[in-house]
Amino acid sequence: MQILNGTKTAAEIRNEVAADAAALKAEKNITPCLAAVLVGNDPASQIYVGNKAKACQQAGIISRIIRLQETTVTSELLTLIRQLNADNDVHGILVQLPLPKGCDEQQVCDAVDPKKDVDAFHPENAGLISQGRPRFLPCTPHGIVQLLVRSGIEIAGKHVVVLGRSNIVGKPVGLMLVQKGKSADATVTFVHSRTKNLAETTRLADILIVAVGKAKFVTADMVKSGAVVIDVGINRTADGKICGDVDFDAVKSIVSAISPVPGGVGPLTIAMLLYNTVKAAKN
Ligand code: NDP
Repeated sequence: MQILNGTKTAAEIRNEVAADAAALKAEKNITPCLAAVLVGNDPASQIYVGNKAKACQQAGIISRIIRLQETTVTSELLTLIRQLNADNDVHGILVQLPLPKGCDEQQVCDAVDPKKDVDAFHPENAGLISQGRPRFLPCTPHGIVQLLVRSGIEIAGKHVVVLGRSNIVGKPVGLMLVQKGKSADATVTFVHSRTKNLAETTRLADILIVAVGKAKFVTADMVKSGAVVIDVGINRTADGKICGDVDFDAVKSIVSAISPVPGGVGPLTIAMLLYNTVKAAKN
């Protein structure tokens, strides 16, 4: 049984991104720059943005954090986004979600210039992904694919079952894996809260990707022997620990490979954000 080591894979990618950023600086005198917009005082968001800024620094990417008060309204955010869109020194723009109640998330994310949309949430970028000609790939789904590919797991022809259909994880990862070509060519099934006999379908998966947001939701009876399991979930248990959406201890004995939480998909999300920022700067 193989443990899919996301920490190691993310470090590999971050080194590659740092080398790319250095080459861009040497050849074109361009230093990639990511602007992160943080509204309000959500403690988790503060930590996420801080971690992203630190990772940028280590990769030779400038990070600009724009902190706004909890009381910020949509129109103020839209003005800021327009300024960042027009700023030639800013290559990537990230709006840390969730936004406070008074802000319209959809309107704000849609206002980001698609060429600077390093989260790949803009409908233009989502459309390009679904047509198999992506500009940017969304960070967590791209991280999942990188973890599979760099761990030597064959995807072509495999039956991938994606548990969860959110716009940030489930839906895009399934769309990416069903495309024609390299690192894809899978047969993809989506399952969600309205799926009947969920376990019957998850048991068919050669590769089971779980993004459900419920601690230890996937139990051993839901997984085929020898399957590959990717656990995207990040849940905090009563004792303050982080755990995934998969009951790791029960499932690990029957699978051929599994990603742990923490140390699986999580570290790759930031690595792919850095990758997209350098890509945006190159473009
Ligand atoms: P969402 O809450 O947006 O989506 C959850 C999905 O799970 C929905 O499609 C929902 O179905 C489905 N679902 C919920 N309950 C059930 C059920 N009982 N049976 C079947 N399906 C169910 O979550 P996200 O996609 O945003 O995130 C999923 C998890 O991944 C979370 O734990 C999150 O913290 C984590 N995450 C981790 C990241 C990382 O960097 N590693 C990045 C992003 C997220 P329906 O659509 O019908 O409601």
